[in-house]
Amino acid sequence: MSDTIERVKCLIIGSGPAGYTAAIYAARADMKPLMYTGMEPGGQLTTTTEVDNFPGYPEGIDGPTMMVQLQKQAERFGTEVRIGMVTSVEFSKEVGGIHKATVDNNKVIEAESVIISTGATAKYLGLPSEQKLRGGGVSACAVCDGFFYKGQDVAIVGAGDTAAEEATYLANICNKVTMLVRKDYMKASKAMQHRVTSTPNIDLRYNTEVDEVLGDMVVEGLRMKNNETGEKEEIAITGLFIAIGHKPNTDIFKGQLDMDETGYLITKGKTTKTNIPGVFASGDVQDKEYRQAVTAAGTGCMAALDAERYLATIETEEEVEA
Ligand SMILES: Cc1cc2nc3c(=O)[nH]c(=O)nc-3n(C[C@H](O)[C@H](O)[C@H](O)COP(=O)(O)OP(=O)(O)OC[C@H]3O[C@@H](n4cnc5c(N)ncnc54)[C@H](O)[C@@H]3O)c2cc1C
Repeated sequence: MSDTIERVKCLIIGSGPAGYTAAIYAARADMKPLMYTGMEPGGQLTTTTEVDNFPGYPEGIDGPTMMVQLQKQAERFGTEVRIGMVTSVEFSKEVGGIHKATVDNNKVIEAESVIISTGATAKYLGLPSEQKLRGGGVSACAVCDGFFYKGQDVAIVGAGDTAAEEATYLANICNKVTMLVRKDYMKASKAMQHRVTSTPNIDLRYNTEVDEVLGDMVVEGLRMKNNETGEKEEIAITGLFIAIGHKPNTDIFKGQLDMDETGYLITKGKTTKTNIPGVFASGDVQDKEYRQAVTAAGTGCMAALDAERYLATIETEEEVEA
């Protein structure tokens, strides 16, 4: 066998909470998992400071530290963690078939089972002031970070169902929520729009965009611009939430795995099975609904159990045939 081709029982793609949890379970089941971390070792939580809602940390924990701990826990049971990006895949459609994944365009991994946990990437506006203050008051997750702004004035950008839901979530915690909608209408369902418009402490602004996020180290305010009149206005806020959508990291699976219209992987029923036998999906890559570390971890556990059962069934069939 060429040294650029390796055969493993279980390949895990992605190193967020889903990938590491899958790795802990797979390693403890003696599946000797091999994990490739991708470009963001540790996943999305490495972009945030305080994680307060992951069970088991009564004082909270910062995201990067939590992910280092998850890595150590996975390695303790024998997971091999490698830096590398899976750049293409070739999945076998046969039950018991060998799946191929190419890493960094040169090394081929042959795997009896594959767990995909490549996550989703939050979209940002792309303004320099927004990028500078990410983690300093600019967040892409209201459910995760809203609590830190209890009783304060915040703003949210977005017009879809998620933005509407996050705006009402924030309105319950914060003093005032200014909601910026770029067009003169919202994309959210009528029911969600009604929730927004009937919440007294949401100040809904149509035709309004972020001109600049104000503040040096932390968010102190927002300069908004009306895109019809050109008029600018500054407001004092301490938090800015961007709710303009996520992009699931599934480009390399296109044409091989079933996806919904926005690119999220489709899993079967209450399992992590994809349309390909032996290929499982866990975490945000297959969940546009909850998108939390603990739910990602939960489905990571499920994926490892599903993979273990799949491999056990195949081994039993091979023994019967022999
Ligand atoms: C700013 C922010 C704050 C948040 N705060 C909280 C919080 O307080 N509490 C909470 O529960 N949730 C929080 N979340 C949400 C949480 O981070 C996600 O729900 C969770 O990380 C999803 O885990 P995952 O394992 O599915 O994927 P991710 O964490 O997205 O990890 C995906 C992994 O896949 C890898 N990858 C992608 N493509 C490839 C490839 N081709 N080859 C190899 N690897 C690849 C990436 O490098 C990464 O390691 C926050 C999110 C953000 C953006």
